[in-house]
Amino acid sequence: MAVHPIRTFPDPVLRTPAAEVTEFDDALDKLVEDMLETMYAAPGVGLAAPQIGVPKRVFVADIGEGPFELVNPEIVEVRGAWEYEEGCLSVPGRFWPITRSAYVRARGVDRRGRPVTYEGDELMGRVLQHEIDHLEGILLLERLPKRVRTRVLRELREEEAPRHPAGGRR
Ligand code: ZN
Repeated sequence: MAVHPIRTFPDPVLRTPAAEVTEFDDALDKLVEDMLETMYAAPGVGLAAPQIGVPKRVFVADIGEGPFELVNPEIVEVRGAWEYEEGCLSVPGRFWPITRSAYVRARGVDRRGRPVTYEGDELMGRVLQHEIDHLEGILLLERLPKRVRTRVLRELREEEAPRHPAGGRR
């Protein structure tokens, strides 16, 4: 197992829809183990494969009830709405109140290709939506209200830009 560096905004791999997994082999098993180790080391409650630079439809999560992986997931049911102070390991150190569905049911397969379903309210529902978004190339920034998003994107780009030697202050 190995801890991988986590890709951060604006890495283009985070904006790229991930590919369906078709091989349920030792490489997939190792990917899932590495993702779990990387998630716990961060620490985080969820991690999607694109966040370590692997454009495949796999995520891992543990909201305190034990680790699980979901491969080729899809959301099959949502209900209600819930606002939560949400963050992302790929946009480190920042949190915003984001409203998403409260209850979510998602299905997919595990690392052996066996059908699995995960469902839950609040944090579980949140993680399922957040991680499946990653597999579509969608960051939580795109879930912010438009005016907030415009301001946040500007701030992030300014932080990213190389500082001008004569104009360092903002
Ligand atoms: Zn994230």
